[in-house]
Amino acid sequence: MAEKQRLRIAVLGTGYLGATHAACMAELGFEVLGLDTDKSKIDSLSSGRVPFYEPGLEEVLTRNLAAGRLRFTTDYAEAAAFADVHFICVGTPQQATSNAADLRYVDAAVESLAPLLTRPAVVIGKSTVPVGTAARIAAQFHALSPAGEAVEVGWSPEFLRESHGVEDTLNPNRIVVGTDSPRVEQVMREISASQIERGIPFLVTDLQTAELVKVSANAFLATKISFINAMAEVCEAVGADVIQLAEALSHDDRIGGKFLGPGLGFGGGCLPKDIRAFMARADELGVEPALSFLREVDAINQRRRARTIDIARGLIGGSFAGRTVGVLGAAFKPNSDDIRDSPALDVAATIGSLGARVTVYDPEALENAKRAYPQLNFAHTMVEAVRDAEVVLLLTEWAEFRDADPDELGKVVAEKRIVDGRNALDPDHWRSRGWTYRALGRP
Ligand code: NAD
Repeated sequence: MAEKQRLRIAVLGTGYLGATHAACMAELGFEVLGLDTDKSKIDSLSSGRVPFYEPGLEEVLTRNLAAGRLRFTTDYAEAAAFADVHFICVGTPQQATSNAADLRYVDAAVESLAPLLTRPAVVIGKSTVPVGTAARIAAQFHALSPAGEAVEVGWSPEFLRESHGVEDTLNPNRIVVGTDSPRVEQVMREISASQIERGIPFLVTDLQTAELVKVSANAFLATKISFINAMAEVCEAVGADVIQLAEALSHDDRIGGKFLGPGLGFGGGCLPKDIRAFMARADELGVEPALSFLREVDAINQRRRARTIDIARGLIGGSFAGRTVGVLGAAFKPNSDDIRDSPALDVAATIGSLGARVTVYDPEALENAKRAYPQLNFAHTMVEAVRDAEVVLLLTEWAEFRDADPDELGKVVAEKRIVDGRNALDPDHWRSRGWTYRALGRP
């Protein structure tokens, strides 16, 4: 792609979002400097290795490193001197002691960068933050930067899906920019020019609306998942089939089939903490009742985990003590190595704590899982994970598990019992091969 831009871009925070954003901005032809406080991440990215699993990202990274458009650093002074535009992509996890977002990394990034900005600059937040954060940060930049009000802040929330990060960054379904500054809008139009040309909607709002677009999108998606999982609970009570129900619902265009897959529910580094932070913020704003439904969305989601454990326990006679359990899946979703708030590992760890010997296999997330859950056992193949198992749980719907051969696994398990936590398998097929098959929301 041609070198075409004068704007130079810094990306602050090079985790799942920032590393992808930095590489894709370079792919669009910009000169980009990625910055992280984690030196090992910067060393890895600088040498062309993505420190997490994201399909397609390594090619974009290495291509743009080689082209000289992309570099990485841990030095804020270098970023301040280099860039006209700074994207804030640091983490905003849930606080340890409350539902609210922990903004310490955003605040640290602002405090590191602001005193170094001696000339006009644009700062664009991409991290997911409680509404009102952008205005507060803008005031901080004005107060702390030598360039004062010549540092202008906008917010452009990120909608990428892990495992589709590159595609979603290069071809987002919309670009939202919160700002009241013509310069910020013009800079974002320049950065997004090739995408705007291709017809991707470019929406300009005020700061607080842009912040709200992100959290309300995640609230809606979480609600849709918990809605179908609530229907699964009802189906379980009457022997109905939630898969047939979901399919019938999906033909109504107003409902649609996406995010309507019943199962173990959502996890990961976004949906759970984002809906909780949204509730906490609504509370602070005095509009807690407006989002009280999200409490139920969260509770339904958690109940699916408990239900999955109950089904497995029921299959092996009522107690996990001393039993052998095989778990397929550790990542919070397939094609990712992200285990943040992973339903699969939550279930596996709970079963382990109830006395079972649990062995977990995942195609990509094993190393992360081992670090976070040293009490579990890990296997390097699906067959090894289920060897001698008295019950198998499928908890992340990797293609490898969907395509599993019930006869091959049947030869190594102690008992042919499977709980399909993701409704990923064909029940008739597995039952025809002698397995006791159970799933969420189905007879
Ligand atoms: P992450 O934990 O993978 O990455 C955050 C990075 O920020 C880490 O590498 C960390 O070392 C770095 N960091 C922390 N403090 C820093 C500082 N002061 N200066 C520079 N770097 C610092 O998190 P993530 O998944 O990339 O999420 C980042 C933000 O993007 C969050 O607000 C998240 O909600 C949002 N988001 C994430 C996704 C996603 O799919 N992961 C999608 C949309 C939005």
